[in-house]
Amino acid sequence: QVVKSARVMKKAVALLIPHMEAEHGDGGERRYQGTILLATVKGDVHDIGKNIVGVVLGCNNYRIIDLGVMVPAEKIIGTAVAEEVDVIGLSGLITPSLHEMIHVAREIERNGFELPLLIGGATTSRRHTAIKIEPGYHGPTVYVPDASRAVEVVGNLISDDLRPDYARRVREDYRRVRDTYENRTPRLPLVPFGEACQRRPVLEWSEETIAVPEFTGVRVDDDFPLAALVSYIDWTPFFTAWELRGRYPAILEDALVGGEARKLFDDARDLLRDIVDRRLLRARAAWGFFPAQANGNDIILYDGAARSEVLTTFHMLRQQRPRSADGPCFALSDFVGPEGTRDYIGAFTVTTGIGLDELVAGYEADHDDYQAIMAKALADRLAEALAENTHQRARRAWGYGQEEDLEDEGLIQEKYRGIRPAPGYPACPDHTEKRRLFDLLEVERRIGVDLTESYAMNPASSVAGLYFGHPGARYFNVGKIGRDQVEDYARRKRTTVDTIERWLAPNLDYEPEGQPGGNTAV
Ligand code: SAH
Repeated sequence: QVVKSARVMKKAVALLIPHMEAEHGDGGERRYQGTILLATVKGDVHDIGKNIVGVVLGCNNYRIIDLGVMVPAEKIIGTAVAEEVDVIGLSGLITPSLHEMIHVAREIERNGFELPLLIGGATTSRRHTAIKIEPGYHGPTVYVPDASRAVEVVGNLISDDLRPDYARRVREDYRRVRDTYENRTPRLPLVPFGEACQRRPVLEWSEETIAVPEFTGVRVDDDFPLAALVSYIDWTPFFTAWELRGRYPAILEDALVGGEARKLFDDARDLLRDIVDRRLLRARAAWGFFPAQANGNDIILYDGAARSEVLTTFHMLRQQRPRSADGPCFALSDFVGPEGTRDYIGAFTVTTGIGLDELVAGYEADHDDYQAIMAKALADRLAEALAENTHQRARRAWGYGQEEDLEDEGLIQEKYRGIRPAPGYPACPDHTEKRRLFDLLEVERRIGVDLTESYAMNPASSVAGLYFGHPGARYFNVGKIGRDQVEDYARRKRTTVDTIERWLAPNLDYEPEGQPGGNTAV
């Protein structure tokens, strides 16, 4: 199914769509199966998956109205009315979008709609759709895991014959999901926050483990050579973006999807060569080091060697459900030296998305959706490659990376000393900390990346994070936290518990008050 859709896409998008447009333009009445509205919700900028869904449905003779990214509820509803759409599809990648989707579903309900609502994108799930979104909307609400499934789901929902039975089956399925959730056996209680803090891992702080960087402050690469990034590309996620599952390079020989993977890979390399040779994208980075010290679960950054002036403070969250019953409870602040040490931390933001909109607009004007998606997928790959490359340069600047001897594969597997956790990822799930990171590095001014109201980076082909150099630093998952920690965290961030509960909804181990149905704690 997936293989077929990718193949259909290439042929159909290049050939069929201009042809159909022409037919339409001649005044011929196009017999669409129906009209589908697609949108990435407000605050989110990721759209590759949504665009693939649009192309696949377009090839199956649906009229697609794609409202693009960062689309507010009012625009979705206004367009649904004006264009008499048959189905609305919402997409989102970052966790705050879950909240926005619940909001959109309620708005659709409030406006008296009954039409089917599709939910898709990286952070969405059948569970979340069943527990948090569907209860707010009485029309059919269906989670769609990928583009190949979209054809089947829409086919069922659009047909007057099939819809009632299909909608009933999905509704029953989701009711069961909710029942299971409500009657789940309670998990072990969390470790109380105070105890979790005491159970922090204690690392060794010495000349061996504290590296002194060759500079402090921020460095900027204003136009980093794209050619230098090609060997840093991790290709496996490229195939995932195209909904082909499997590891590179084995995927190229895969019995089922190998042929399709090779074709995609060939096309990707052709376009990549073009992007590099003609400098169609611009790669920029802002990165640097700062004297730093852990203070409990916070990391304090200083301006200058004297460590007298505080630049900023990063707030970290601590595990309250450690991996083993008597194991340590991790927070990222454990990887920075405490009072009495003179440690450092690094920070970075990189982008390869500058110029992408123009490139994509050109392909879209040619009705070449395949190439438009390819360009976005490659820009994402280049951004991750620049993150890997910049991290390598940072490790060298930090000294300990000078002796490092890793092949490309070793870099992709991150087999080096130190980590670069990204805000919004499991070790630091709070997206709002990106604001501090961006202020610290003056990201907007220096490299032209900004944050949406949900703290998504725009352009989407951007990566940000912190560098930790301690050999014991590792990735972990903060997971569920209790109200005790939320209260402490709100105090440290000088904000309200409500605000924290909203942004950290997926991490709450409890149903917050005052936000009935508003939490996304699943
Ligand atoms: N080579 C991959 C890199 C992205 S995934 C690619 O090209 O797509 C790995 C990155 O995700 C890490 O470098 C880190 O920035 C982030 N990451 C992974 N696990 C994390 C965790 N538990 N907490 C925070 N960040 C994490």
